[in-house]
Amino acid sequence: MSHLDLTNLTTVINARGTFTPLGVSRTSPQVCADVTTALANYYLIDELQELASQTLSKYTGAEATSVTHCSAASITISVAATMAGSSPEKVAALPDTTGMRDHVIIPAAHCVNYGQPILQAIRLSGAKPVVVGSQDECSLTDLEKQISDNNTCCLLLVSSRLVTDDPVDISKAVEIAKKHNVPIIIDGAAQDFRIDKLLDTGADLVLASGQKYLASPTAGLVVGNRDLVAATRAQETGIGRGMKATKEAIIGVLSAIGERTSLNVGEWQEMQEAKISNFVERSNAIKGVSARSVPDPTFMPFSRAYLQIDESKARCDAPTLIKALKNGSPAIWVNDDKASQGQLGFELVQITDQEIDMILARLEELLI
Ligand SMILES: *Cc1c(COP(=O)(O)O)cnc(C)c1O
Repeated sequence: MSHLDLTNLTTVINARGTFTPLGVSRTSPQVCADVTTALANYYLIDELQELASQTLSKYTGAEATSVTHCSAASITISVAATMAGSSPEKVAALPDTTGMRDHVIIPAAHCVNYGQPILQAIRLSGAKPVVVGSQDECSLTDLEKQISDNNTCCLLLVSSRLVTDDPVDISKAVEIAKKHNVPIIIDGAAQDFRIDKLLDTGADLVLASGQKYLASPTAGLVVGNRDLVAATRAQETGIGRGMKATKEAIIGVLSAIGERTSLNVGEWQEMQEAKISNFVERSNAIKGVSARSVPDPTFMPFSRAYLQIDESKARCDAPTLIKALKNGSPAIWVNDDKASQGQLGFELVQITDQEIDMILARLEELLI
């Protein structure tokens, strides 16, 4: 018998996307079952990590992979790996970087806050970020100018979070860093469908979250160069101790990668597009709403629905509507990145048909 009592908790419909304060994603029944098995047993963690590495290599084509606690942890640990390698003395010394190269080049436009400033995730390792260019501009010459003997790595980001159009040409930036032997790490936390594409840029390490679209338990994947991946594991005896992957996370990742490998992405994408266009059509029938489908700006295989609220026809404006949806029961969370332009964003990847009905009913209730 369960002793859990969750009756006082808020029931949530998550149309916001893979958002940490909402628990990120829904894990499939099979992955849940495999994680349950994992929790009840012992394993050699090194064997689990090796199995994850081999399995991820088949999926991504990479030399090696390590599993960490999450992508934020992956950033700190992979920067540490470029500084300390697998040297036990250096691993033990961090975050004291005396005698190590410790400058991390990062374009200004990539200095995002995903709930934590990314610069802090770098600094936690002991490294010092060198911010290049401005929000709208970061030329290859700017990047090249900052490359020096002090650099340990260059960190680039691929994310729909980049609010302005990304001024950095990732492949060209990788080329420049390579020319100067500076390792490149790409934070592609929400890019699990595109790990192979990001590796194709020539990056040394690609970081992806397990719990976002892959929908495993919370985990970070560090994918790429064998020695650097090994060095990320080496940090587990140092600053990475609190950032290690659990047995249930590694087995959850293995199970989720199994599901992903057997997924027909083309069919899945069609299903997602049908869901969005149906939602757009039904939203457009609500007075004061004009809805459209917006493809993911980073080429992930799905679109989002954006609803423009016409204040002169609807009962309230977009920011008020977003608040009212959140305060209802169930609480409906949407993407508010374009709220100031009068728009609400809906990510429906993990939303059920029944939830879609509830969202549309609530929109009508609030707008008409
Ligand atoms: C989500 C995200 C992170 C943090 O990922 P966690 O796995 O929650 O630690 C880091 N960078 C980017 C770009 C993200 O989207």
